[in-house]
Amino acid sequence: MLGIGTIARKVFGTPNDRKIKATRPLVDKINALEPEFEKLDDAGLIAKTEEFRKRIADGESLDHILPEAFANCREGARRAIGLRAFDVQLMGGIFLHQGNISEMKTGEGKTLVATFPAYLNALTGKGVHIVTVNDYLARRDAEWMSKVYGALGLTTGVVYPQQPEDEKRTAYAADITYATNNELGFDYLRDNMKSELSQMMQREHYFAVVDEVDSILVDEARTPLIISGPSQDRSELYIAIDKIIPELADDAYTMDEKTRNVTFTEEGNEALEELLHARGILPEGQTLYDPESTTVVHHVNQGLRAHKLYSRDKDYIVRDGNVVLIDEFTGRMMVGRRLSDGLHQAIEAKEGCQIQPENVTLAQVTFQNYFRLYEKLGGMTGTAATEAEEFMEIYGLGVVEVPTNRPIARQDDDDQVFRTAREKYDAIVEEIKIAHEKGQPVLVGTTSIEKSELLSQLLTRAGLKHNVLNARQHEQEAQIVADAGKLGAVTIATNMAGRGTDIKLGGNVEFKIMQAIEADPEADPEAIRARIEEGHAQDEAAVKAAGGLFVLATERHESRRIDNQLRGRSGRQGDPGRSSFYLSLEDDLMRIFGSERLDRMLSKLGMKEGEAIVHPWVNKSLERAQAKVEGRNFDIRKQLLKFDDVMNDQRKVIFAQRREIMEAEDVSEITEDMRHEVVDELVDTYIPPKTYADQWNTEGLYAAAIEKLGVDAPVMKWGDEEGVDAEIIRERLEEASDKMIADKAAAFGPATMRQIEKQVLLQTIDTKWREHLLTLEHLRSVVGFRGYAQRDPLNEYKTEAFQLFESMLESLRETVTEQLSRIRPITEDEQRAMFQQLAQQQAALRQQAEAAQPATAPTPVPAAADTGAEAGGVALAPLVEGFDESNPDTWGSPSRNDACPCGSGKKFKHCHGRLS
Ligand code: ADP
Ligand code: MG
Repeated sequence: MLGIGTIARKVFGTPNDRKIKATRPLVDKINALEPEFEKLDDAGLIAKTEEFRKRIADGESLDHILPEAFANCREGARRAIGLRAFDVQLMGGIFLHQGNISEMKTGEGKTLVATFPAYLNALTGKGVHIVTVNDYLARRDAEWMSKVYGALGLTTGVVYPQQPEDEKRTAYAADITYATNNELGFDYLRDNMKSELSQMMQREHYFAVVDEVDSILVDEARTPLIISGPSQDRSELYIAIDKIIPELADDAYTMDEKTRNVTFTEEGNEALEELLHARGILPEGQTLYDPESTTVVHHVNQGLRAHKLYSRDKDYIVRDGNVVLIDEFTGRMMVGRRLSDGLHQAIEAKEGCQIQPENVTLAQVTFQNYFRLYEKLGGMTGTAATEAEEFMEIYGLGVVEVPTNRPIARQDDDDQVFRTAREKYDAIVEEIKIAHEKGQPVLVGTTSIEKSELLSQLLTRAGLKHNVLNARQHEQEAQIVADAGKLGAVTIATNMAGRGTDIKLGGNVEFKIMQAIEADPEADPEAIRARIEEGHAQDEAAVKAAGGLFVLATERHESRRIDNQLRGRSGRQGDPGRSSFYLSLEDDLMRIFGSERLDRMLSKLGMKEGEAIVHPWVNKSLERAQAKVEGRNFDIRKQLLKFDDVMNDQRKVIFAQRREIMEAEDVSEITEDMRHEVVDELVDTYIPPKTYADQWNTEGLYAAAIEKLGVDAPVMKWGDEEGVDAEIIRERLEEASDKMIADKAAAFGPATMRQIEKQVLLQTIDTKWREHLLTLEHLRSVVGFRGYAQRDPLNEYKTEAFQLFESMLESLRETVTEQLSRIRPITEDEQRAMFQQLAQQQAALRQQAEAAQPATAPTPVPAAADTGAEAGGVALAPLVEGFDESNPDTWGSPSRNDACPCGSGKKFKHCHGRLS
């Protein structure tokens, strides 16, 4: 019996069918243009590109040019790499251009598909990014497809980790740039830590095509990209808090052993607040509930956990003055492993050990938020349909299932369910043996590396030769994948392994040729090619006769998508193939979900020892269980994203401000506004609105003006004058501070002053933003702490994060104003000391950079404002950045009595500064 939905779909078609149908006319148009483009010579194709560019510049839309551009691209690819794109590939390309995910099965040729929308969109001159899951693929695809782009007169770049700066900049400047998601994200973060526009790598974020989009935007979406570095020393805070914890009574907290959770009670909070006030850790008048208290609250919580949840010689030991964690299962020491978020430091404080500095986040972004920067996004993968809702909700990406070029001939078996894992593995080994004897290649899928290893042992015991793939060495991996379709090959793979390289029956002919040429460099490569190709045709036929690739999965994954990925490795381009899932009631997924129901069902179906149950019911019920887990995981990702969105909004504001400042010639207006706001705040604080003169604190204002504005103004005298009100005092203070800055500008010279202002602004923004990031991290861990008044943690987090952001901006204004009020030209001695220090810092940075992990490169530039800050004055070297002693243009305006920057040892006025 057919359901109503099924009947309706038969009549009306699915929404997907309609989308496919809608592109048909476009594909027909491209096909009709083919003879015309075939007639063009090589220069003619490039001339077409020029023509399209011009038409776009003259206002023609990309959609209008699409048929011709695709026809040109098809012809270019045919000539350059010998592949004539199938109609379904054109369709896939159209959907990408329209900002969708094109779901196309493995082996359908997605690498080529991406060139079509990339070519079309790059005609705007804005730069297109093609995103791959690993560096090997970025390089492979860039090299392969650059021939196509080259034939069309476009440039291709590839970006990779640790790439020399100028090379990377060139790669980003290319029309089309291939890169991994990681490198793109890190470059974005690094760019926003730069202090000069010219040092930035990325251009605008216009259009990105993300390959294996589900891996990148779903699987990896939970881990943010982080650039971290050592933080400032907080030892004193840890020690002070550590002393407080033992003074708390037993009713100050509640402990939940099972979830390893400990929280303060209401009584505890009161007692705590009192203690914190008494020790001066919390300023008088500030409560634990104020946003400003976030950091203290966080550390107090960590202190409590350190004392109540972590026991010496059980959870950790102290060895040579270090706190070393113990693995709770094996009892082994985990040397070098540290608890995060200041917990390790809290334990160090408790044990009286030296407190090691914590590593803090300098910059951070999630993939979701990075990829949302693009004006337009497209994605490709073999498996997206099951996550269509998530793609739409989070990225606004629709999923279109593009039909395969040839009908799928793969046979998908019903699941086989065994009672125990042992029985299952026995059956698997048996099944592999049978296939292997026929010569049928087998790809065995596992859900973890450990299980791969277990299976590998079983196969070895059974005398079956095999390869193991586990997504570590991408290049080697490509080789193993290339061999996985050979006659009688057995390959074990975990989830992600080998994505991006497809398995060809009889092996990968290009790899075979490459190897043969390498093995015999003297011989004629063309002859080798001919020989191998002939042999390969036979190999391929033999494997097809043996039934094609057999995918044998040893478990179902939490997500149907990953299962489909594995299945889809077989049966590419209409090849024969087979897929089978072997399961047992002891599998993780079965245990967690519905195993009871399954158990009942299985006994109903009558399950005997050693036998497997095979029934469509089982598949259905498993798929329901998977859908449930998928839904839960989606919820977790959504929740995380909502938290991250808060930070993301703020990051966008800060990064945009930074950029604006870098772009500006002159930021004096910004610093002036800041200064005036500081004046307003000071006046409001000491001369509150609607008060009489005898209530004014003019002495306080006088002192504050010296401290914050660097202005020594006769505020007390002004206060005594007849008819003077707050407004007049405000104006006079403003004038005095403006004059003071104008004097400095005159002393430094306007050009230098502008540089200084820019530097101070950027550096202060960076410092404040980093502190703020840390506070936000703390806030996230403490929102629960304030949660027992039945408030929603997310809302709580949003409100407080906003307040914290505001107070960060306020403190930014103050610091910038204060620093600018203290700058002064530096003396000779200071200058010498400073260059020395700078040289040391640079050497240290170089060392750090060399030792840095590729994933998290610490790139903080030494803050020039930190140097010589002691003596109450911030001594800023005129133009330290980019200083070059051989180039007087980089010297700024040295004072006439300073040593000449050229290093001659003479005074400036007697050397380069001589007025002739
Ligand atoms: P996918 O990424 O979709 O799995 P690939 O881009 O890796 O597929 O391509 C798989 C294979 O198909 C490659 O060896 C490629 O040369 C081949 N291929 C792609 N497009 C065509 C085409 N139009 N005609 C013939 N072979 C093609
Ligand atoms: Mg691919």
